[in-house]
Amino acid sequence: MPELPEVETVVRDLQKRVVGRKILDVWTDWPKYFRGTSLKVFKRHVRGKKILGVSRRGKNILIEVSDPPSRKRSGRASSHLILVHLKMTGHLLAGKWQRAKGKLQISKQEWRPDGKVKEMHDPKNGFIRLVFFLDSKQYPMLALSDMRRFAKVLCGPKEKILNLPDLKNLGPEALEISYQEFRDKFKVKKGKIKQVLLDQSFVVGIGNIYSDEILYVAKIHPLSRVEKLKEPHIKALYLAMKKILAKGIKMRGTSSDDFRDTYGKKGNYGNVILTYQRHGEKCSLGHLIHRIKVAQRSAHFCPVCQKLIQ
Ligand SMILES: [Zn+2]
Repeated sequence: MPELPEVETVVRDLQKRVVGRKILDVWTDWPKYFRGTSLKVFKRHVRGKKILGVSRRGKNILIEVSDPPSRKRSGRASSHLILVHLKMTGHLLAGKWQRAKGKLQISKQEWRPDGKVKEMHDPKNGFIRLVFFLDSKQYPMLALSDMRRFAKVLCGPKEKILNLPDLKNLGPEALEISYQEFRDKFKVKKGKIKQVLLDQSFVVGIGNIYSDEILYVAKIHPLSRVEKLKEPHIKALYLAMKKILAKGIKMRGTSSDDFRDTYGKKGNYGNVILTYQRHGEKCSLGHLIHRIKVAQRSAHFCPVCQKLIQ
């Protein structure tokens, strides 16, 4: 599942590629993305609107759209937000596709990439389920490729979206939280550190990949009890969190699973990955990396480098 570095990569791409463009129309073969809203109503919210900005809250992508000035004058102006959560296998692509017709259709895929950009032909980019048509010659379509169809796409007035539990119940941003606030949050928290790092009401943006990486850098075993952590452990975790997430963004995310950026390209963090999905291989100091289950999630760690605190 895309985590903070992957979502941030998408957001930064979209800021460069789609801001200022107008949404002309929307297509989907999976209206369940809208969670109870029909395609007709969703279209009413976004059609004709201009993309003003793209931002991120946790793993949510927030696309701000507004009526063009001509409609504003008629008193129908309203700033809306489109919230996109990529969930397991979703990713947004900006480009151009052609609809496959009749017998030419090789698989059930409706859309085929138009052009020779190699990455767009990557099978992971072939599950186009939702398309925003834009008034852009270069990137006339913003598409959601989502093999497993778990993504979520909501649209509504800005205030309404910001007040949804999806956003309201989130903890502080991992990249923004101060050390003092981070440390204070630990004082009232119990449980295994791996699980606590994944808790989006604790700190947002960290998932299975980067929690493993952060714990390796902080030299803390995933099963360590947070109530037993001392100040130096918390400090090490804080620094490791900032360092790993910044590195993840710099490398444009991890594509060990399905993630691709808006150009259809893989992220590069996998080339420098420390422990995630590397069980059976060696850590940077030459010890064997292990894998265990922690609350139905797998944790990859080095039992020599990472200390169990309990
Ligand atoms: Zn080691």
